[in-house]
Amino acid sequence: MKLDRLLAKHESMGRNRARARILGGRVRVDGGVARQFDHEVDRFMKVELDDVVIQAAERLLYVMLYKPTGVVSATVDPEHPTVIDLIDDPDRGSLHLVGRLDRNTSGLVLLTNDGRWSKALMDPAKKVPKVYRVQTRDPIPAEAVAAFAEGFYFHTEDLVTRPAKLEIIGEREARLTLHEGRYHQIKRMFHRVGNLVTGLHREQIGELALPDDLESGQWRLLSKEEAGRCR
Ligand code: URA
Repeated sequence: MKLDRLLAKHESMGRNRARARILGGRVRVDGGVARQFDHEVDRFMKVELDDVVIQAAERLLYVMLYKPTGVVSATVDPEHPTVIDLIDDPDRGSLHLVGRLDRNTSGLVLLTNDGRWSKALMDPAKKVPKVYRVQTRDPIPAEAVAAFAEGFYFHTEDLVTRPAKLEIIGEREARLTLHEGRYHQIKRMFHRVGNLVTGLHREQIGELALPDDLESGQWRLLSKEEAGRCR
């Protein structure tokens, strides 16, 4: 929102009076005098008029969480515990999820109240890589690497999956990097090569990996610098 609009709204004054106060140097944004009435402000910025706070800055939250299996990637659920239930922060109600994992998938989940950040991370054009560790029922043949790189046609969405990097790390275990997130994508991909996923764990999003000292069910806040590394 533009600064003059915010001021006019909060102080129930006309736009011209709001502009006069801004031009007169009476308005501060995040501590600094703002002299441009079209200055863009959001709810994470502190705005003061004559040293009186008219908008307190909301806390920007970036959360990483190690989702255990059995917990749903949702903010509310009538039956199962949700990722929000695991976060004991007073502002947890403002959080939304940046992408989901299936209930029986474990690993890295990100939450935030910064819509711009989540939008950028989920933007298909940005192709943010996501790394998963996969366990399967049957051995994974070497030819699967080429099949995953080539992509699979998904009838429901009428699309071919983007090239995915499959590294076979055990007879029935692989690391898979995707640059998109379709519904049950990994399970469907393995199904297409006649196999079945028996365990799925997300290790990394962008440059951000689940740290060794974060245990299943635990969460922590990310610094702005860490949050920037996901994109
Ligand atoms: N692919 C799946 O099949 N499930 C997930 O939870 C994530 C990716």
